[in-house]
Amino acid sequence: MAEVEVLRDAAVLLDGNRIAWVGPRKGAPPSDRAVEIAGVLFPGFIDPHTHAVFGAPRLDDHERRALGVDYKAIAAAGGGILQSVRDVRSRSEADLVALTRARIAALLAHGSTTIEVKSGYGLELEAELKQLRVIKRLGGALPVTLIPTFLGAHEIPPEYRGNRAAYVQLVCEEMIPAVAREGLAVCCDVFCEPGVFTPAESRAILTAAQRHGLAGKLHADELEGSGGAELAAELGALSADHLASISDAGVRALAASATVAVLLPATMVFLGKRAQAPARRLIEAGAAVALATDYNPGTSPTVSLPLVMALGVSQLGMRHAEVVTAVTINAAAALGLAADRGQIAAGCMADLVVAGVEDWREVAYWLGANVVSAVWTAGSACPPLVPLLS
Ligand SMILES: [Zn+2]
Repeated sequence: MAEVEVLRDAAVLLDGNRIAWVGPRKGAPPSDRAVEIAGVLFPGFIDPHTHAVFGAPRLDDHERRALGVDYKAIAAAGGGILQSVRDVRSRSEADLVALTRARIAALLAHGSTTIEVKSGYGLELEAELKQLRVIKRLGGALPVTLIPTFLGAHEIPPEYRGNRAAYVQLVCEEMIPAVAREGLAVCCDVFCEPGVFTPAESRAILTAAQRHGLAGKLHADELEGSGGAELAAELGALSADHLASISDAGVRALAASATVAVLLPATMVFLGKRAQAPARRLIEAGAAVALATDYNPGTSPTVSLPLVMALGVSQLGMRHAEVVTAVTINAAAALGLAADRGQIAAGCMADLVVAGVEDWREVAYWLGANVVSAVWTAGSACPPLVPLLS
């Protein structure tokens, strides 16, 4: 992960939506059109974990947490995930499209050219399908690749609190088949955590998803360990995400598998937690580590992968080259796209980002400033974007 190739005075030749050639400018093949770049050209960043379809930000949760109120008391006061669920259930698809369009534009303006987006604020069939249709509509309308993930198992909805087995059955036997039938998701994710879904429930849901052609992902070992990383590796999931409380056995399981460890340092910072996932232990054991924003209205309201890269260095102990790998080729692998994107290499999708900096390491340095000065997706320059978040 620490080996990135840095070319100086280089040229990249595009052919349609693909990269055709990259190398020293002096040896570049002739081209009918040239664009001069000032700064550093990166592969388009890939954000492999977001919850970008939501209604209002959860500002009261933010303040309650600052005052020391714990998450159970916040939930009892009407906050937490279920506040976003009530909000999303009550909004029209058109309203969610308008809100999410601006938020995807903000992610793109910070260099994310491929973005995974989860459902999970519906927790009933129609509201889950509504969120996934929002993702599908925006993927067709914006110059960005959106990878939709079904997260019906984000939380037990209030109407099933006394009968969780019936909700797991609903997810497996009605929601997953409906999502697959409409072709609305590529992946299926489960929040595997004590107090949310158990490893046995997570296994049942991901197994049902895989039978319907959806790739597995898992929110695993975030606040308390429960064997989520081991389960993700055993089921051949694309990724195990969060991992602040991963066990030694979990580290070994990920290292021995193709499952990518997706780390979300902005979430722990925003929650005011000192704990972070053991990135160094994962990397040194041989696991593939990716980074993501976890963009969501309750625990990580950031649209900036460069900010997350800087936190990867300062909070996770990663090297600059490792955080670049973590938001490009490894993030592509966390979405099953490593053959197609995440590198500036012949044959890859022509998704490119310019950072207006002298030294490439500055992309993971200017904490909170947007260093991204231009973005190309599928070979075309994106218009300057004016993000508007709510
Ligand atoms: Zn998440």
